[in-house]
Amino acid sequence: MSRNEDLFTRAARSIPGGVNSPVRAFRSVGGTPRFIARAQGPYIWDAEGTRYIDYVGSWGPAILGHAHPEVIRAVQEAAVNGLSFGAPTEAEVEIAEALIARLPSLQQVRLVSSGTEATMSAIRLARGATGRNKIVKFEGCYHGHADSLLVKAGSGLLTFGNPTSAGVPAEFVAHTLVLDYNDQAAVEAAFAQHGQDIACVIVEPVAGNMNLVRPAAGFLQALRDQCTQHGALLIFDEVMTGFRVGPQGVQGLTGVTPDLTTLAKVIGGGMPVGAFGGRADIMAHVAPVGGVYQAGTLSGNPVAVAAGLATLRLIGEPGFHDRLGAQTEKLVQGLSARAQAAGVTFSADSLGGMFGLYFGAKVPTSLAEVSACDTQAFTRFFHGMLSEGVHFAPSAFEAGFVSATHDDAVIEATLDAAERVFARL
Ligand SMILES: *Cc1c(COP(=O)(O)O)cnc(C)c1O
Repeated sequence: MSRNEDLFTRAARSIPGGVNSPVRAFRSVGGTPRFIARAQGPYIWDAEGTRYIDYVGSWGPAILGHAHPEVIRAVQEAAVNGLSFGAPTEAEVEIAEALIARLPSLQQVRLVSSGTEATMSAIRLARGATGRNKIVKFEGCYHGHADSLLVKAGSGLLTFGNPTSAGVPAEFVAHTLVLDYNDQAAVEAAFAQHGQDIACVIVEPVAGNMNLVRPAAGFLQALRDQCTQHGALLIFDEVMTGFRVGPQGVQGLTGVTPDLTTLAKVIGGGMPVGAFGGRADIMAHVAPVGGVYQAGTLSGNPVAVAAGLATLRLIGEPGFHDRLGAQTEKLVQGLSARAQAAGVTFSADSLGGMFGLYFGAKVPTSLAEVSACDTQAFTRFFHGMLSEGVHFAPSAFEAGFVSATHDDAVIEATLDAAERVFARL
């Protein structure tokens, strides 16, 4: 047995499925996950010492490349002063100010330790601030694993959702209305019927958890208009897109302003940091000022915040996102050209430092269209690339990520590998 197989077998004895987050188990592509021993820049090395070009980037945080020296130094310097105090620190104020300075929709933020906590807390806040119970989410958008968000559309139009996880009582999702992404008419119908009861709409303003799916023209503005008209709050879940698609997230690219924003991934630079924030009058409902309870033993952890602050400083340099976006475009255009040359049905899209690869003729606009792509072709591509030393996300329903260390040589090496793999498809 290889060392990866050996570790996977051993892991499965003490950890369910051998992993601490399901997608890592390679279930949708089959085979053995690589156990990672170390990472540097655009590369990861597995337990057998094999090097891969990495397009997962810890699912988004590694925007500067792995183990950026200045981020590591910030973590080391913070760590020697103590790991956690359970009391406020100056660094927490600095990161709050840094986030507020960068995203115009933020007037106040509260730090948490994950994206799940950020969205769960933002929804509780929206309900507390509006005094309403119902929430609207979209099929294919992932907002972490809080009970009320693990839900798919009900059987009828505008019926409330069904749980997608065992252990979630139907009553817990009875207030969650699930609509199709990019279906503006469905949003209008939902508000026409339930407008008085809807606390918030939560959306990935560019979806990255059903592969990459962009919002249709006018979709986000329609959400804004409906929320404003009916007194509901608009939550942009920018856990993935925040500081990934551009310096001000999707809200900066589209000019549509949410009431609340959730962040994580990039803002922790690889450490557990999340945040939710928005208008000061709404944030005034959060304890200890207001009646919406929210807390965390490790919230604002000094070592994690140090990594986040160093990351935000480095990605704030002029032209950072333009360069990142240009490299990502080189990757997806190169892949498209090579697929076409090999006669493989393929399309690709990118926005800033995130990208989508689709084994379908055109870029999808909904979960249904993503699901209609050829997942078997994806699986063959995935394993082909892995054997060529290129690590993409092990699922056709995930976006990919490029870092600032994916230079021309790294992109070229990827495209050369893809040429060989497409030829074998
Ligand atoms: C990753 C992600 C989450 C969950 O974040 P965790 O830190 O994994 O809890 C929530 N929303 C979106 C859009 C995400 O991409």
